[in-house]
Amino acid sequence: PPLALNSSILIVGAGTWGSSTALHLARRGYRDIVVLDSYPIPSPISAGNDINKILELSSSAPRGSAERYVSDKLAEDAIRGWKQDPVYKGLYHETGAVTAATSERGREALNEGDGYSEANGWTPLKTKEDFRKTMPAGVLTGNFPGWQGWYKKDGCGWVQARRALQNTILEAKRLGVTFITGERGQVISLVYEDADVKGVVVTEGPAFRADRVILCAGANAARIFDLKDQLRPSAWTLAHIKMTPEETKLYRNLPVLFNIERGFFMEPDEDNHELKICDEHPGYCNWETSPDGTQRVSTPFAYHQIPIEAEERTRSFLRDTMPHLADRPFSFARICWCADTPNRSFLISRHPDYPSLVLGVGGSGHGFSYIPAIGSVIADCLEDVMDPKQKQLFRWRPETAVDRDWSDLQDRFGPEGSNHVMDFQRVKAWTNIDYSRREPR
Ligand code: FAD
Repeated sequence: PPLALNSSILIVGAGTWGSSTALHLARRGYRDIVVLDSYPIPSPISAGNDINKILELSSSAPRGSAERYVSDKLAEDAIRGWKQDPVYKGLYHETGAVTAATSERGREALNEGDGYSEANGWTPLKTKEDFRKTMPAGVLTGNFPGWQGWYKKDGCGWVQARRALQNTILEAKRLGVTFITGERGQVISLVYEDADVKGVVVTEGPAFRADRVILCAGANAARIFDLKDQLRPSAWTLAHIKMTPEETKLYRNLPVLFNIERGFFMEPDEDNHELKICDEHPGYCNWETSPDGTQRVSTPFAYHQIPIEAEERTRSFLRDTMPHLADRPFSFARICWCADTPNRSFLISRHPDYPSLVLGVGGSGHGFSYIPAIGSVIADCLEDVMDPKQKQLFRWRPETAVDRDWSDLQDRFGPEGSNHVMDFQRVKAWTNIDYSRREPR
């Protein structure tokens, strides 16, 4: 049936994009929206269920290009949402950003395109003193060996991620959206009938039927529907260390510091006084053979520990920047799954063969900061009113993934020794963080 405000709509995944889609559809007046998730929400495996995320939405695509237009428009909509939408107001901290690289190759990559330049409002950073001066005395105590980069005071910063995700879900619920979680919400496959998709099959209980199905299952989407190698589920690694109340005070309102080869951090969260650090690398896959034995697939799994080699990278990043924290024990760590398309542009499209199926996937490492706006794009896709340039860029494009090179770095970097896509199957040792006194979140 044609889409109408009383159409039944199923959204698979209550993570970053699924919950944003539910909210936007409810705001547009749709009255029969059900969101399914395998986990209690916010899901422990949602990439967005994290204390904070970087918001730095400037594009380095050439001015005048379609890519630049699409990127700038989405950034504008997202920032307006962070500043004006009551659901997100106060959660964006416009504290600025420091972006850097260490090796010659990294520095060259950083300076390519129309991104970091004085003309675009960035100040060059060349010496360790330049870096140290971007934060209050006592924060950056490191020597920044080989570091060069850029600093900008406004238009970028960080967002309170979990809070934003929770607020999105709460507001969607208030507007009448139903969320079903656990085995009843765990989607195994889609219901195919009459050359279309008519619902989803779940682990427990009868299948759900609906007029439209929107797939927003993040890194797990390819386990539910054949995405023709357009997604590469890959994981990154994050760790927390506990800060004292005094340190938390000193560390307030810091710019985000991101070295594209070494890692990044933002200020500690106010509730738990924990500082999150991510070590940077081209990602981990978890290569297995598909159940029918024909394909190599990267299968996501949840784990609240990280490889020892990731711990070492994290501590090495801390030694460059804040050696006084480099040996502090981790209070929390986890692997965090996302999924890259071949060109890291999003995949938001109706499916060419199944008219009732909409895909909202391919966060590609930069999909969180759009949470206030991305659901509107997915809703436009459902309604077939997407901006033509956006539609073209985010289209279903299996031709770009034929014989996909799974080891492609996709413009990501790691420190020497980790500058390649890694495989969890080869990891020998993991951290052993003791959660006996607290549940991992
Ligand atoms: P998710 O948020 O992961 O949601 C997927 C949902 O689907 C989950 O709730 C899951 O439980 C559910 N699900 C899975 N399988 C099933 C199933 N079978 N049935 C039902 N439900 C299912 N972006 C930024 O903008 N800035 C950053 O600083 C940033 N940092 C990042 C750091 C790390 C370590 C990682 C991994 C990602 C980062 N990202 C960042 C990217 C961003 O987090 C993701 O692009 C974004 O959260 C993806 O949203 P999603 O809705 O596609 O997936």
